[in-house]
Amino acid sequence: LDREAAMHTQAPHSADLSNLWMPFTANRRFKAHPRMLAAARGMYYTAADGHQVLDGTSGLWCVNAGHGRQPIIDAISRQAAHLDYAPSFQIGHEDSFLAASEVAALMPDGLDRVFFTNSGSESVDTALKIALAYHRARGEGQRTRLIGRERGYHGVGFGGISVGGIAPNRKAFSAVLLPGVDHLPHTHDLARNAFSRGQPAWGGEPFADALESLVALHDASTIAAVIVEPLAGSTGVLVPPRGYLERLRAITQKHGILLIFDEVITGFGRLGAATGSAFFGVTPDLITLAKGISNAAVPAGAVAVSRGVHDAILDAGAGGIEFFHGYTYSAHPLATAAIRATLGVYRDEDLFARARALSAPFEEAAHALKGRRHVIDIRNLGLVAGIELAPREGAPGARAAEAFGKCFDRGVLVRYTGDTLAISPPLIIGEDEIGRIFETLADVLATVD
Ligand code: PLP
Repeated sequence: LDREAAMHTQAPHSADLSNLWMPFTANRRFKAHPRMLAAARGMYYTAADGHQVLDGTSGLWCVNAGHGRQPIIDAISRQAAHLDYAPSFQIGHEDSFLAASEVAALMPDGLDRVFFTNSGSESVDTALKIALAYHRARGEGQRTRLIGRERGYHGVGFGGISVGGIAPNRKAFSAVLLPGVDHLPHTHDLARNAFSRGQPAWGGEPFADALESLVALHDASTIAAVIVEPLAGSTGVLVPPRGYLERLRAITQKHGILLIFDEVITGFGRLGAATGSAFFGVTPDLITLAKGISNAAVPAGAVAVSRGVHDAILDAGAGGIEFFHGYTYSAHPLATAAIRATLGVYRDEDLFARARALSAPFEEAAHALKGRRHVIDIRNLGLVAGIELAPREGAPGARAAEAFGKCFDRGVLVRYTGDTLAISPPLIIGEDEIGRIFETLADVLATVD
């Protein structure tokens, strides 16, 4: 016991760092200068050296209700003691059905069939497979083409990187990406829309009309689905210009193409509504979910599917297994317990409305950085902000990386991709803490070359 207690209180360097191959990390650089987290509660992490770090990113956009929430801890603990694991193939456990109903109740009307996964990447691959299965079930098996978008992030499965549009995630695997994928242009227009507050006021329709060009090129009869993030997060916070999502919906509907919204980030309150779909008033055919679904306390994800898509696949099933897909851990009892408790916290504390109410002071605080050194754009919606810095000459990303490190050392966790800093705090954040995040950033930017 003494040894165990000692391990938890020692500096990070007591562990041998060589065995762990860290994901999406410059391993050698990290291991030369490790920054470690040791504990978390509410809005704060405790770093391994003991200093408090305000969580400006909800972990990785996922701890929407804040850390260490007692109802979630209790639910997971109870479930672990009560039903540690139950298969979900050809047998069920009640919590999985209750969790599905509770997730469905938060989805747009009609998207009330729920398939459980363990991550965003799995949700994306599941949704793409559902899209293909749907067309095949309806006798349109030639509809196999999938359309993503430049700069899109849809996780790291082969399906997700194929429809994704982030070049470094794709290039090493380019020869084996899914065939028959095409991409819409991204919607970032810095020259016209820099420092827009909320949704850029105009310009959405022409970006969406690019889908008509792809339809003309490939023919609608070959296209299964279009997948986009309603607000692109991981690429550096790209807010959809007004009219964009509405036009995408109209074009997909006209051509019988399924529309998938990847709401792994925008789901569960990030924009001040249960979903981005509800926030923007645009309903797709499928929604991919993860992250905030379980407050990240247990890995979990889901795909919410329209009844029409679900029923078409079941109708074609001829009494056997209708959809040959699923995970050992689909609807894992710890995940469904975490999901139910998390949704309870969101409801009891009205956190989506809280995020909505905080989005105005959050926007003010973010845009107060305008005019600071290096800042070339500020983008925001709900409780998400992207602060884009001019890249350092010959070293893209270095400036944001330096700002990230200095913010951490001063007790604020931010995130960066390329030279964009992303802020996405838990929805329980207070106005003082919002102020602290952006004031710390302002101080730090003054010290970054
Ligand atoms: N889709 C989107 C929009 C995401 O932002 C992410 C993760 O950031 C994923 C999918 C992948 O999720 P995961 O890392 O849980 O596989």
